[in-house]
Amino acid sequence: KGRDHTSSIAKPVEAFAPESWVLDEVNQERKPLLHLIVIGHVDAGKSTLMGRILHLLGRVSQKEMHKNERESKQKGKGSFAYAWVLDEGSEERARGVTMTVAVAHFETPKLRVVLLDAPGHKDFVPNMISGAAQADAAVLVVDASLGAFEAGLEGEGHGSGQTREHAQLVRSLGVEQLIVAVNKMDTVNYSQKRYDFIKGSLQSFLKQCGFKDSAVSWIPVSAIEGENLLVPPSAAALKSWYSGPTLLQSVDTFEQPLRNTRKPLRLIVAELVKSRTLGQAALSGKLESGAIRIGSKVLVMPTGETATVKAIEQDGRPINVALAGDSVDVGLTGVDPAILYTGGVLCHPDYPVPVVTRVEVRVLVLGITIPVLRGSQVVLHAHHAKESAKVADLVALLEAKTGAVVRKKPRCLTSNQSAIIEIVPERSMCIEEYSQFKALGRVALRDGGRTVAVGIVTRIISTQ
Ligand code: GDP
Repeated sequence: KGRDHTSSIAKPVEAFAPESWVLDEVNQERKPLLHLIVIGHVDAGKSTLMGRILHLLGRVSQKEMHKNERESKQKGKGSFAYAWVLDEGSEERARGVTMTVAVAHFETPKLRVVLLDAPGHKDFVPNMISGAAQADAAVLVVDASLGAFEAGLEGEGHGSGQTREHAQLVRSLGVEQLIVAVNKMDTVNYSQKRYDFIKGSLQSFLKQCGFKDSAVSWIPVSAIEGENLLVPPSAAALKSWYSGPTLLQSVDTFEQPLRNTRKPLRLIVAELVKSRTLGQAALSGKLESGAIRIGSKVLVMPTGETATVKAIEQDGRPINVALAGDSVDVGLTGVDPAILYTGGVLCHPDYPVPVVTRVEVRVLVLGITIPVLRGSQVVLHAHHAKESAKVADLVALLEAKTGAVVRKKPRCLTSNQSAIIEIVPERSMCIEEYSQFKALGRVALRDGGRTVAVGIVTRIISTQ
């Protein structure tokens, strides 16, 4: 098979050196890109908040806003006016893609921000995982209104406890930097007491999840009233006690992500695209590492066929070069479009991504009712790929905080346990060790629409 051929020519990643044109590009780079995911309980105000920011930044026109408001009302979702902005603003709606992670762009003084919206509904958790797989940082939106905050934190399943679940998810997937936007402060008269209570309740929990105190910022806001988003608060009640940064200022202080331009190309296919300008074989995705330019030869994995980059677009505009960190649309020539699929990876011709048949992963088990056993059937999600898979072995139970082995070969895994396990997908998948390529080494295990565990790939045991 062609795949065996490609793996036999693979060179070790350490041997890779970027070509001179890539280094030239890196030297004259623009502002770095930051991929930001918005998480939180359903109805916490994620869409409203982000829609509002985009509107204030002039990324959405007044006319568009009115149209959105009208459309949302017709759909009986009056309050979701801003939520529609996210769909409308990106090309997602034009492509007819539903339930996908909405993407919008905006700039801060230091950063170009790519916004990944994570809808709060249960079914959307897989999308959140593909979103988090790309995320450099997260904004956790919590609803400060009486009762709502408590509902977001407590309990398990069916809409409750999503604040908890989302925070655990993104941290287990490697996201280290977090802003907590304490939203709907208008409903509690911008009370400092309420804010302090929420911060106090959440802080220790976030620490348990593995977020360092120094990597978490706390910002009181009201998305509806536009308070403390771009400009300092105007509400007297908030001004009286808060003098910290606005939400946008806080985003601007996120650590700038390192660019993996010095590693071979890995472009994860997020979705297939229909486009007149890009041709038949077109896709959108993010370059996790490496670079492409028009004319570059790429390996389309997992099939291992070679294609040529015909066109590249970013934000709807044609560009000549894309570097690690960029989200782009790409048109290819020289391949049958049928071999492209979501979760596939474009690679440097000499450095194909491993196509794995068995992996070792370190996972955190979430709130589950049925224990995980050797032989349990799950769906394995990694970046934008998903396959049915079997838990082939339970290797070791770990202590959550330190990662030390508590017991080898545990008989089963239950809620909130950390463990090393081995997984065998039914069909081989493009996966890397987390230490090599973060975004290709984050995984989630799901069963019957529920997330069972999340974690990172610690070892590739066998490849195709
Ligand atoms: P999402 O599910 O997290 O995306 O939440 P939405 O953005 O759809 O908002 C849920 C509800 O909360 C809607 O009715 C919004 O109008 C409302 N909402 C959002 N932000 C605020 C806020 O700052 N103050 C108040 N009072 N309501 C808000």
